[in-house]
Amino acid sequence: MSEISVKYDLLIQLAKSYITREESFYVIQKAFDYAFVKHENQFRKSGEPYIIHPIEVAIVLTSLSAGPTTIAAGLLHDVIEDTGVSLEVLTQEFGKEIATLVDGVSKLGQLKFISKEQALAQNHQKMFLAMAKDIRVIIIKLADRLHNMRTLKYMARDRQIAISKETLEIFVPIAHRLGMYRLKSELEDRCLRFIDPDEYYYVASLINDKQKEREKDIASMINDLSTLLQDFHIKYDIKGRIKNIYSVHKKMREKGKEFSEIFDLLAIRLIVDDVVTCYHVLGLIHANWKPIPKRFKDYIAMPKPNMYQSLHTTIIGSNGKIFEVQIRTEDMDQVAELGVAAHWAYKENRNNTTEQEQIEIQKKLKWYQQMVEYSENNAEELVELLKDDVFTANVYVFTPNGDVLDFPAGSTPLDFAYRIHSEIGNKTVGAIVNGKIVPLSYELKTGDVIEIKTSKQSFGPSEDWIKIVKTAHAKGKIKQYFNKQNRTYFVDLGKEMILKSLEGKVNDIVGFVSDDKFIKKFSKQGINNLEELLYSVGKKLISIQTIIQKVDNNDTGFDDKSILEFFTEEKVNERIKQHRASDTGIYVEGLDNPQIKISKCCNPIPGDVITGYVTKGKGITVHQVECKNVTDSEKERVISVYWSESTAGKKYEVDLKITSFDRNNLLTDIINTINSLNVNLIAVSANLNTSHIATVKIKIMIENASKLNNLVVNVKKVKEVYSVERIFK
Ligand code: MN
Repeated sequence: MSEISVKYDLLIQLAKSYITREESFYVIQKAFDYAFVKHENQFRKSGEPYIIHPIEVAIVLTSLSAGPTTIAAGLLHDVIEDTGVSLEVLTQEFGKEIATLVDGVSKLGQLKFISKEQALAQNHQKMFLAMAKDIRVIIIKLADRLHNMRTLKYMARDRQIAISKETLEIFVPIAHRLGMYRLKSELEDRCLRFIDPDEYYYVASLINDKQKEREKDIASMINDLSTLLQDFHIKYDIKGRIKNIYSVHKKMREKGKEFSEIFDLLAIRLIVDDVVTCYHVLGLIHANWKPIPKRFKDYIAMPKPNMYQSLHTTIIGSNGKIFEVQIRTEDMDQVAELGVAAHWAYKENRNNTTEQEQIEIQKKLKWYQQMVEYSENNAEELVELLKDDVFTANVYVFTPNGDVLDFPAGSTPLDFAYRIHSEIGNKTVGAIVNGKIVPLSYELKTGDVIEIKTSKQSFGPSEDWIKIVKTAHAKGKIKQYFNKQNRTYFVDLGKEMILKSLEGKVNDIVGFVSDDKFIKKFSKQGINNLEELLYSVGKKLISIQTIIQKVDNNDTGFDDKSILEFFTEEKVNERIKQHRASDTGIYVEGLDNPQIKISKCCNPIPGDVITGYVTKGKGITVHQVECKNVTDSEKERVISVYWSESTAGKKYEVDLKITSFDRNNLLTDIINTINSLNVNLIAVSANLNTSHIATVKIKIMIENASKLNNLVVNVKKVKEVYSVERIFK
């Protein structure tokens, strides 16, 4: 009992150093008593009573300034898994909050991390999802792992290595991501000691040898600094920094640096009372010692994504040695060392926080949560991220609603748009960052608020976009869009080519082309259906000649059913339509020579999907289907209309809006492009705003939608143009 009570007393003593309310200890005591009874007669590999382990875990939690709830859950963390207590019983005993935490930790404990990438990734996902409910589950799990690492020497050698590797691959990156540097460093060092003891002791000895020399230099610099700060009556505290053997090892082995390069940098950390004093002290230091250019970093004004705040500067000290000085407040230091745990501690331990402070903490916790939830549908990418330790290479941006999304560095508003929805991506016509219009190639920065401008009338992505976007997701979506576009285009083209070349012969070959037996003749070319046949013709993978030959060489044997049903029916209809079409080129089902007006609001042209609208006394107005002036509410006034073949040679009015970054000769280049395509330009107006965005509106006369599409493709190729939209009024 004595060993246990000594440990437990230590826990209480540590907790009392920051938990002030007496009644907070009731739940801790109760949790201990409960766990003590449940774990009775259980022992660890070390031979110690099992209860020592949960107490040690709770002690680790106090080093993270955990609140009473978290400490109690830490004491109870193994009772579900190892003593068979049910969640229900634990809930009755301790309430929902503590029981849920313990249950969460137990669930994480059941995950088996296998080293096959996919399996590993899936477990990560589960882990993160579990955490998404309460980040304290992860904090307790990390404390649990830390104590297991501290007692790893009692395990067999192969288990030591396996557990250390798992810790490095899974727990270390999570601790890093949550900003829990102190815990992370200890885990890393302990892992290295088991995985490669020779290396561990070698690096440790290098550091120790150097230490004496360094201490002398640091002491003299501290002396100088103290004198300066005392002269200005500034209260300060100087803290030492943890030697992270693992990080020195990594830099030496992976970056091939000399030990002296890594460890010659002397570091001093100053803790002062408030933010203003941080800057004051920085000013004093720069006034007295020469700073090294480009080494100054203001992480107070611009915190790191994981909330780290501090001022960093590198100076040449009085003795000619180079020092890195970090200046920050006590709160910032807590965050730097404890990461997310610091925010939880703040939330649980201070009951006199203002509402505003509570909101701030909630916001920060939400931020962490979202950081960790990242890419839950792309598990493999996540594993890569975790392994490469590149979290710092991410940027975190806000939606206009304040939701946080993160992206690899170098991502653009288009990546953002595609992340939200592929339709938003495809319809993007502009981006607004922090209230200002930016080019679509703008590089996102942490803290940016991004708003995407979309337009239903956008003609879709430019091929250039593939070069602009950074994420695989956005690239995939853009490629997908073009593949689909291309396919439809070539199928239509193939159809047109066949129709044209078979004209006149139609009567002879009717029935052949669409027949299954006929299509089978192309199976060697991998063609299995009509759509594939048309596509191949359009793509010129199969010549029209081949088609005609196959038709000619055929000596009957086909079904009598309508030839080329696909084409002929359409052909017949076309002919009928031609007879009845009005001079607008539009045919109305069941009506000869109707009075037809093409609406001015959406200016439909042949190829657009259109709908008719019966207007009293004025005949039929034809709109594009997506025109907002057509309402479903008056269904009885809507009538089916079609484009007829007789539109050939007719030209229709279209209004386009072109958005571009302004540059010299922009307008000339746009006009030249239009002229080169023999499109009549009727009107042009251009407008430049303060963000150097040019809006060019043009009115053209054009035959049909496929010509218009071709025009748009070419206009989008004009340098700096990033969107073209059709104007609907
Ligand atoms: Mn445990």
